[in-house]
Amino acid sequence: MTAAQRNCLADALVAGYDVLRRSASAVNAVEATIRILEASGLFNAGVGSRLQLDGARRMDASIMEGRRLRAGAVAAIEQVRHPITAARIVMEETAHVLLVGESATRFARHFKLERQPLPTRAKRNASRAMVRSQGQASELQRKTLRLYRAMSGRNTAELGTVGAVALDRSGTVAAGASTGGVALMLPGRVGDTPLIGCGVYADDAAGAVSMTGLGESIIRLAVAKEIADRLEAGVVPATAARLVLDKLVARMHGAAGALVLRTDGRFAIRHTTPHMCAGYWLGAGKPVVKDKFE
Ligand code: ASP
Repeated sequence: MTAAQRNCLADALVAGYDVLRRSASAVNAVEATIRILEASGLFNAGVGSRLQLDGARRMDASIMEGRRLRAGAVAAIEQVRHPITAARIVMEETAHVLLVGESATRFARHFKLERQPLPTRAKRNASRAMVRSQGQASELQRKTLRLYRAMSGRNTAELGTVGAVALDRSGTVAAGASTGGVALMLPGRVGDTPLIGCGVYADDAAGAVSMTGLGESIIRLAVAKEIADRLEAGVVPATAARLVLDKLVARMHGAAGALVLRTDGRFAIRHTTPHMCAGYWLGAGKPVVKDKFE
């Protein structure tokens, strides 16, 4: 994690907590936190999002609140600076949960959401160069590269997806996530992030969960809902996360990280990847930001 990322995470935590301190909702806090991360360009979301193989930047985001189980999401949205806000508007202003593609982008235009310029030529060239170098590599070379990244403690994504969970004074939890997807994506690929129950889940009877990691494995295990179900059964966050992440690894060699918050305020940050940049703040002292959680 760079110093800039560390500072940005700390700023986002402080901003999110301030929202809660002013007695605003957990949804407001989650949105405010994620907006800072999306605007930073330091993470794989919003301005910093990866490109798909055709050079387009298609982003996914979702948000959910635990009192009435309301949820909103967008997938493959383009040229919007804050996909998380588009997701929130889907939740609050429509009868739907998920809008996709050009229609999601048009929806954001209708609500006059701040635009994001098309990817620059330099960004498209860098993305093409990465595709070419991966394309020429043999399977063994690619495996070696993955091994090297694991050994050197770098996640496969230099920039991570962003997410947040929060609990407000009324006892309501919320979860959100926003991403530019994974490396080497076919145009139109959608991961777990905008899928309720996979990338995020929130239920006041259980808690809030926000996921990062390889969407193709997270989706097949509906990881966020699996963790939430365990919370509802009385399992503590650290154990709930460990049980489900262990299953993800055992059954499909998945790699993921989870932010897990129970309605009683207990929380855990767990990951199967060597590192996960994340943090928490309880309102006193400095926010805790680390790239490894046990
Ligand atoms: N879960 C995201 C996806 O598969 C990527 C990530 O979290 O890094 O699109």
